[in-house]
Amino acid sequence: MKPSLIVHGGAWSIPDEFVEECRAGCRSALAAGWEILARGGAAIDAVEAAIVALENDPIFDAGIGSHLNRDGRVELDAIVMDGVTLKAGAVAAVERVRNPIRLARKVLESCEHMMLVGSGAERFASQHGLELCAPEELVLERERAAWRQCREGAHSWEFHLGHDHGTVGAVALDRYGSLIAGTSTGGTCCKMPGRVGDSPLIGCGCYADVEAGGVSCTGWGEAIMKIVMAKTAVDLLRAAFVGARHAASTPSGDVAPVTPQGLAEACIHLLAERAHGRGGLILLDREGRPGFAFNTPRMAYGYVAPDSSFVISV
Ligand code: ASP
Repeated sequence: MKPSLIVHGGAWSIPDEFVEECRAGCRSALAAGWEILARGGAAIDAVEAAIVALENDPIFDAGIGSHLNRDGRVELDAIVMDGVTLKAGAVAAVERVRNPIRLARKVLESCEHMMLVGSGAERFASQHGLELCAPEELVLERERAAWRQCREGAHSWEFHLGHDHGTVGAVALDRYGSLIAGTSTGGTCCKMPGRVGDSPLIGCGCYADVEAGGVSCTGWGEAIMKIVMAKTAVDLLRAAFVGARHAASTPSGDVAPVTPQGLAEACIHLLAERAHGRGGLILLDREGRPGFAFNTPRMAYGYVAPDSSFVISV
């Protein structure tokens, strides 16, 4: 099976001056993941490597450089899901973990539960060999300044505009047919302490099923949760395969093919119409065909084309 990889660095009103950095960040993430897939490595390693690259890049709202909550602290969420077993590993509201996607993977592989939060997640991290950092190490002066400005404006909406999103995610299919999706975020700017959005929730910010496809979402979490967007996208992919099989078995067989791209767009249409939300998603169908859509001014994303070149757009 030909491997496939798609990544994103968030759907938001990315200002012109950040475009090149977002583009470079997506390129590095693709390079990190593709290097693994191209030499026959596993999708889980590729997703972890791609998301670690994005978490370590301060331009994105994940890992270092994440938005601060109302108390001026970073609280991180992440999830990784295995499309073969349907098992996920997720963590939420961690403050002392540099790469929450690594911790999510530990939960996936070594925990009897699917999701751990706060201090319990951090205790699990140190018990499983992940070094904890000081919370301040994740805070950038840029975010501290934005937080001060938001606070002075009593957290009114206009202070968050243009500075409100930048979650990261990746979906990979490896040559053995394993399909993995992952998402990592610092959440929304000046969120209430303890707030958890869609990103680490199975079916909302991420879903993978090898029988249909894998998805990672970004955008306004409170709206994405309402339509369980990642699972909705996977259900549409499944229905498209069932429909195609049915059409092939009918005498005329003349049902128009539904593309992964069309389904990604349908999901974002649903987000806008039914939940009045804004955001984006990336996906791979079970054959590794990419799809992406967003209704924000911009989304940073990239995927590997069939000729192995990188297609990147912001
Ligand atoms: N979905 C994330 C959240 O609500 C934010 C984002 O994607 O930018 O926490």
